[in-house]
Formats: sequence, C-alpha cells, structure tokens
Amino acid sequence: MTAPKHTPTAREQTFLDGVENLRYDRQTVNGLSPFQDENAPADILGFYSKEELEELSALKGTRRDVEQRMPVKMTRHYFELAQGSTAIQRLVKASADETENLEGSEDPGHQMDYSPLEGLLHKYEMGLMYVISTCSAHCRFCYREELISGRDVERQDGTVARKGLAQISEVTHYIRTHNALVASNGGRHPETGREKLREILLSGGDPMVLSNLKLAAWLGALAEAGVEAIRIGTKELAFFPERIDATFLAMLDSFHETYPHVSMRFMVHFNHPDEFLAKDDQGHYIEEGSGALKWMPKAGAAMDGLVSRGWLSVENQSPIIKGINDSADALRVMQRALKRVGANNHYFFCGRDIVAHKAFNVPIETAWQILNDSQKGLSGVESHARLSITHYKGKTEVVAVTNEPLAGVPGTEHGVVIFKLIRSAADAPERGQVCIVARNPDAIWFDGYADRIIYDEAGLFDYMRLPNARAAAEVS
Ligand code: SF4
Repeated sequence: MTAPKHTPTAREQTFLDGVENLRYDRQTVNGLSPFQDENAPADILGFYSKEELEELSALKGTRRDVEQRMPVKMTRHYFELAQGSTAIQRLVKASADETENLEGSEDPGHQMDYSPLEGLLHKYEMGLMYVISTCSAHCRFCYREELISGRDVERQDGTVARKGLAQISEVTHYIRTHNALVASNGGRHPETGREKLREILLSGGDPMVLSNLKLAAWLGALAEAGVEAIRIGTKELAFFPERIDATFLAMLDSFHETYPHVSMRFMVHFNHPDEFLAKDDQGHYIEEGSGALKWMPKAGAAMDGLVSRGWLSVENQSPIIKGINDSADALRVMQRALKRVGANNHYFFCGRDIVAHKAFNVPIETAWQILNDSQKGLSGVESHARLSITHYKGKTEVVAVTNEPLAGVPGTEHGVVIFKLIRSAADAPERGQVCIVARNPDAIWFDGYADRIIYDEAGLFDYMRLPNARAAAEVS
C-alpha cells in the first residue's frame, strides 16, 4: 500500500510545537557482556554470580544462547528494586534454565495473520501497533521476544522476515480507508465484516522509551485520523518511573485540551507489589493507616501523575509467571494496592506459547486457582480482573475450574475447565461462546486439552488460520 506522506494539520502542528523533549538517563545495563567483561558499575557487577556467568557463557553461540532468545537489559532503578526481591530478580535475570526446552511458537497466536501492514495488528475494533522494539528493561518471559530480539517470523504467505515497526503515514491512511469503507457499508467492512477501527494501542516494546515529541506525533496523527481512544501499553512505572515526569504529563494535558473527544487509557504492567510498594528493614510492606500500604516515592509519583488526570484511565495487566508472581498473597496485595490509588485491575494472563514458554508458564488450572484464591476477601471493585488466555481466535477467559464430575459425562471425573471467548479477533458476534474441557492439571496451553473436549461452541479446537487457510479449504 502506498500511503500519502503525513502532513500535520494546523491544530496538530500547534500541539506538537508546544511539546518539551528531555533526555533521560536510565543507567541501563545492556547484555551479559558488561558482567562478563566486568564493565558494569561496581555495585551492579554482583547481580550475576561467577558460576551463573560461566554457565551462561558456555551457551553462547549455541541453540541455547539466552541472549539470542531474548536480549538482556536492566535499568539501575530495577536493579535497586531487585536487591530486596527474588521475584524482581527473576524477572530480568537471564538463567540457563530458560532455554532448556525451546518448544513454542515464533509467532504466538499467529499474530501475523492479522497484520494488514507492517507494524499494525488489526484485531477486534482495535488496532495494536509496534512503535518501538525495545523497553527500558527486558522481562525474560516477554511474549514479544521475537520483535525485541529481531528474529525472523514466517508470515501467512510463507515469506520470512523480521517484524517491522508501524509508520504514521501508513497507519493513518489504513485507518481512514478502513473506516470510510465501514461507514459507507452500514457499519461493517464489505469484505471482512469488521467494525470501525476506533481504538489504537501503542505498543512494542515500550512506547514510553520514545521521546515526548515522537509520542505526541503518534497521538496527534491518530486523533486526526478519527480514532476514538488511544491506549499506551507500558511497564515504565516499574522500570523507570521518572519517565512519567512534568514534561510528559504536560504533553498529555495539552493533547487532551486539543483533542478532548479522544479518550486515553494507560495499560500499565506491574507483575508484583515489590515493583511499587515500600518495605521496612525486615522486608515487610509498610502500613500507612486504614490498611493502605505505602508506595515507593518514584512509582507513587508516577501513578499519581496519571490517575490525577480524571480524563484518562489506568489499567493494570500482568501474566502469571512461575517464580515471579504465582502467589495468591502477592496478587492479593497488588490488586488491593492498585485499586486503592485509582488503578484498575484489568487482566491477568496465562503465559503464551512462546519459544521456551515451559520455563515461565504455570499450568492454566493453577493460574486460575491462584487468581481465584487471591481474590478471596477482596471487594468487588478490587477483584475485577479476569484470567485470560489468548487463543488464535481471540481473547479467551478461563471462567471456571470445577472439581466434581458432570453427571453422566464420561471423562469429567476430576471436573472441567470452562473457557469463554471474550473477544474474537475476526468477528465480534462470537463473543460469549464457551468451550468446556475435562481437566488436565498439567496443561499449560490449549493443546493439553485436545483429547478431552466436552463441548466446543466457541470452536477453540476446530480452528483454521485466517483468511487464506479458510479460502483454500473452501476451494478444495
Ligand atoms: S515490558 Fe512488555 S514488551 Fe517489554 S520486555 Fe516486558 S513483557 Fe516484553
């Protein structure tokens, strides 16, 4: 697709002219070599033991090279948090264990099936854009590891290439064209049946690594293209909370003044309360009265800066990862503490079937049990989060795990798992359809249930990749 060059409107240009850009010093340590060559700052050097470094070095250049799978990166702020928390350490610290089993998909969820142009995934009524391919630090369990490590990914047409980044001119041209066709066809795209593309998620990588001006350029261009809501997906409140500073907040305020009709949602990513709650000398969270737990100053200021702007919402979402936050107690503390300051608990996720996922994912039924236990004793508003697992068809909720047999239904002696399609990537009317399978406590992905399907209205186990696979099936 050839898109016309993007030229800012007068309104957009006035907004951009008022943006202040600062440079940030995250004191990032990139890769394992600063540890191996002893170039890292003296106090950070001990983050890896000699034995750990030897073990990781021995894997270099082999199929099990951990840096090939996912580049190692950490900010000083996160290193300091890690001093008092094994969960935080595990989140950023490379381990030889993670490449012991390299099973998994290079393109989890066959995302490329939904990529009409480079850097854009068009799913649901929402588009997701890769606007950058790195974050301030890198989570070892990241499900965008192929983007961050720059690996080749196979497209549905069989071609193989790195995932590219979205470009303003192409994306805004695509949105305008799609939405015009939808409007002229009674609210549905004439070929795909999709609705208006009304919401865009800036993702990557972490968009907050971009400068204020680059972020503002995306916001202004998307608003001018008719997008109704913009999301920013970020883990910066954990990795480098100072990024949410006065210049960034002033840019947001100016955007809201210029485009008051465009709503904004911050999809933040806290995995564990150790990322934002202060601790005393014994390692206990500090009570401030009325049951409130004290936030660390930098994370607290960043969160305050966002939630104090009543026109935007803050939503936390986090996978449940082995050895990091597979703890009902940690998740309970986190959900209470976030809601208390005005952030919503949006989703918890089962880990995706990325390459090496067996090192990180907890079984689906265990994840459900942990989240369910964590929500015992929470109020209704504190426990809004659902457990989601992303199927190729769309976002799916793990609704319930039962312990009793279904009377008269063979195979259900140990109970069932109920999945519900909450967002179908292709067709909104499929929402709400369910799938029931007999339990398998070891299943960490859907294929663990392939031999025990009881009822599959949602078609989770009868699925062909879209749209070429369907077209081919129809011809044959
Ligand atoms: S913040 Fe998100 S995109 Fe970045 S490394 Fe972590 S999981 Fe991946």
